[in-house]
Amino acid sequence: MPETSHAQDWFEEIERWPSARLRSWQLDRLREVVAHARANVSFYRSLWSKAGLRESGLDSFDDFARLPIITKQDLLKARGGWANPCDGPVGFSTRGTSGEPLLLWLGATEEEIYIAPTMRGFRWAGFAPGMTALLMSPVWHRLAACETHAIARLGGDCAFFWGSLGPDNMDSFLRTLTSVRPRFVTTTAPFLLALVRRAAHDDLRLAEAFRGVESIVAVGLPLTPRMREFLRARLQVGDVFERSGTQEGAALDDCRLHATPHIHEDVCYLEVVDADGAPVAAGERGRLVVTKLAAAGSIFVRYDTGDIAAFATGECECGCTFRRLKIYGRPESSVMVGERMITAYDVRLCVEENPALLGRNVLLIRDRSGASEVLTVAIEGGECDGDDTADRLRSRLGVARARIVWLGGLRINWGFRQVIDGREIGISNG
Ligand SMILES: [Zn+2]
Repeated sequence: MPETSHAQDWFEEIERWPSARLRSWQLDRLREVVAHARANVSFYRSLWSKAGLRESGLDSFDDFARLPIITKQDLLKARGGWANPCDGPVGFSTRGTSGEPLLLWLGATEEEIYIAPTMRGFRWAGFAPGMTALLMSPVWHRLAACETHAIARLGGDCAFFWGSLGPDNMDSFLRTLTSVRPRFVTTTAPFLLALVRRAAHDDLRLAEAFRGVESIVAVGLPLTPRMREFLRARLQVGDVFERSGTQEGAALDDCRLHATPHIHEDVCYLEVVDADGAPVAAGERGRLVVTKLAAAGSIFVRYDTGDIAAFATGECECGCTFRRLKIYGRPESSVMVGERMITAYDVRLCVEENPALLGRNVLLIRDRSGASEVLTVAIEGGECDGDDTADRLRSRLGVARARIVWLGGLRINWGFRQVIDGREIGISNG
């Protein structure tokens, strides 16, 4: 890749390129990545030679779409064979929520490439030179590792609080907030929701702690529009932005219109495919397939992340031509009811239509057999008078039966996992 490819002087311009120019630029990057992987990574070399990739490489997106889609199991089976000899010196482990974690390598070249979209996302979220940002800590995600660099390059100051983003560290976070008074905060949505819930029970004056915060960039959960507004109103901050991505290279950020996060199409090429690997139309859900447009670090070409995602239809009115995509969750944040895959996001959309239920944690209960005809949803707190959530779940989600278990005073940590076995909270499954 030419050294100037990701230089800061043009990355704002690329946001507005006509899509034909952007696709042609992406095809050039795909050619470079494929050529690099074939030359350096034995796993890809043997996979693609079996698939009949020509010596000349890729001529078109059709050629690219003929490359096999790979999964984590393929990479685990290949062991060291899929690693790149030019891998960087910094290792990141994936979370391992869906089994054995992968260890990914990050080097200075790749870090440099991913700082640009982080700066762009922060700029979209309103970061301006001279601001102080309270950043997520610890840096457990590859994308989060770029945040400090991005803020420094945007001419801002960074602050961190002591501790992880767990329930035990809320006081440390709030103390730092009130002593630093940042105008910009990056954190996780589960941590914010846990703070709001605690404030409802303890005498916590959240709005005072967040005074002066103009933007929060939140990762970790796909936010529904109501949830985003709920957080904004409870914390009394200017705006809340959704940031998402995967360790394998997908990177997305909300623009100021919040009309589905934009893909940073200069660092990743994303596809949404059906069970047979064929592309699905915009607006339809499928599995997220990631290709990292960087011939550096751990190489991912047509990697099925297991996430459930859909492209948004049409162009965003903000003027940025990068396509938009919502990542709804992983298979472990969804359940099968009959033939339908129901995500925790879908359920929250229905639950939140009753405003009294906004901000309550909602979990899906997985049937022990792995498949059920009944959708079981656990909601914190007691039943509200006249609540018709079960009816709404049935009619909106097209399931034959929906059952709600009201958890009363039982509190469940807000987390990334949104599906549990009923036995964990003492209820029967199904
Ligand atoms: Zn936009």
